Amino acid sequence: MRVLVLGAGFGGLELTAQLSEQLGDAVDVVLIDQADTFVFGYSKLDVMFGRTTETAVRHPYRDVIKPGVRFVRATVRSIDQVRRAVVTDAGSFEADVLVVALGADLDPAATPGLLEAGHDFYSVERAFATREVLENFDGGRVVVGVIGTPFKCPPAPSEMALLMHDLLVARGVRDRSEVALVMPLGSPIPPAPAASQAVLAAFAERGIAWHPSSVVQMLDPQRRVAVLADSTEIPFDLFLGVPVHKAPQVVQESGMCVDGWIPVDSRTLRTAFPDVFAIGDVASVGTPKAGVFAEGQAAVVADQIIARHRGTEPTASYDGNGICYIEFGHDRVGKVDVTFRSGEQPFGEFGEPTAAFLADKSAFGTVRARRWFGRDWSNY
Ligand SMILES: Cc1cc2nc3c(=O)[nH]c(=O)nc-3n(C[C@H](O)[C@H](O)[C@H](O)COP(=O)(O)OP(=O)(O)OC[C@H]3O[C@@H](n4cnc5c(N)ncnc54)[C@H](O)[C@@H]3O)c2cc1C
Repeated sequence: MRVLVLGAGFGGLELTAQLSEQLGDAVDVVLIDQADTFVFGYSKLDVMFGRTTETAVRHPYRDVIKPGVRFVRATVRSIDQVRRAVVTDAGSFEADVLVVALGADLDPAATPGLLEAGHDFYSVERAFATREVLENFDGGRVVVGVIGTPFKCPPAPSEMALLMHDLLVARGVRDRSEVALVMPLGSPIPPAPAASQAVLAAFAERGIAWHPSSVVQMLDPQRRVAVLADSTEIPFDLFLGVPVHKAPQVVQESGMCVDGWIPVDSRTLRTAFPDVFAIGDVASVGTPKAGVFAEGQAAVVADQIIARHRGTEPTASYDGNGICYIEFGHDRVGKVDVTFRSGEQPFGEFGEPTAAFLADKSAFGTVRARRWFGRDWSNY
């Protein structure tokens, strides 16, 4: 059986690791990505705030050495989901099973003024470039602003605001600074009310202004104001933005998307096309866009591919569960355990911020770096 996995992010890496562990070279797996390194989403914050370096958080794909798996560095140019065939700039590939795990692309240019007057802290390269901006920032009005929904890792903008507070305190300029957060959500982490309360209490304690259920529509570079959808204006000296998210162009052009993303069966991750799956941020599964969910979905697809190879019945069904860690600053991390099931209200539990969860978060990265890249790595 030939399996073609497009995208070596959280979803693609976990899927290929599971296939290799279970089937070795009995199955021919090709994993394609245009990048040469993988970066955990949260490592961007670590680099921006000077806790580590860009080089240290880049995991080279050349280290993905697994029986049965061949990594190909290439850009996917077109996808034929009916024939399960793709064209890339390194040749064409066909498969018996196709898995689309190409993530969500960011489009900062879609928002007037964002690239000119603000900083996108969500894409790898621009987030790393923001490190220097933060290093040289001498206080003033900081606005962390989300441009629209959906957006990856919903707690990340709150983390950004809390970490900015810490940075300004450490630099001795908090008294003459302001921090504001603009978010489309009504609360910081809607499925986990206790987590939202803790985040809102942390904002209140630190004097962080919270603008819920709002989005930033544009920045005016001359006047240095962020204009919200309801025309409210917030002046800034430093704007840190979460740009518009969209499915990668090649996925949009394939015709697989409905309302911008690939629809899937939320239990099996199957698309409308036989033996074509979509996992992670590129799919509309009903979970937030986050690595832990992409990973859980990968496990369910792996189960189906393994069962097919063995001639057995698949047993796994996607449960919509994921754990995420939230940085509160002061070296403390909270933990949210959330579940999103189709037709049910999402629900979640919250573990109060502690130093122990910081260690858990670090272990999260260490385990995956070892499993996916065979590397000894720690993000702190
Ligand atoms: C600041 C920040 C903090 C975050 N923190 C967390 C966290 O703590 N926990 C968590 O679970 N998630 C977190 N996330 C979210 C997480 O990074 C993503 O949701 C996750 O990476 C999605 O996994 P994926 O496999 O769907 O896609 P991705 O990991 O984005 O992988 C998609 C891959 O497809 C490749 N690709 C795209 N187009 C093409 C093409 N045409 N040809 C070839 N390759 C292509 C890309 O290079 C990429 O490697 C965070 C995100 C950000 C921005």
